[in-house]
Amino acid sequence: MSATSQIRTMATANHASLPLRKCVACGARKIKEELLRVVKSASGEIVFDKESKLPGRGAYVCKNIVCVNKAAKSRGLQRSVKSAHTRSDDIYKRLALELDG
Ligand SMILES: [Zn+2]
Repeated sequence: MSATSQIRTMATANHASLPLRKCVACGARKIKEELLRVVKSASGEIVFDKESKLPGRGAYVCKNIVCVNKAAKSRGLQRSVKSAHTRSDDIYKRLALELDG
């Protein structure tokens, strides 16, 4: 077996064991690279976790405006992380901005 095909085999095995996260809007299960992550901060507000490094209870939505809008309508992210913070609605604007840029 060549070194190249060995690496490819390892990469495939890795991919198969990646944990999948669920979009709060459409329910699709995807790897986290295909999703936007938010977390509930210590103050109870939902914040965008761009680097996927923030601690706290997280929720995910697909990287597309359709799912972000759907989540905004159903307040899916608030429900998922149980946030009743008055400013949590701002997260949808933040995510839309992220998709724009
Ligand atoms: Zn989705």
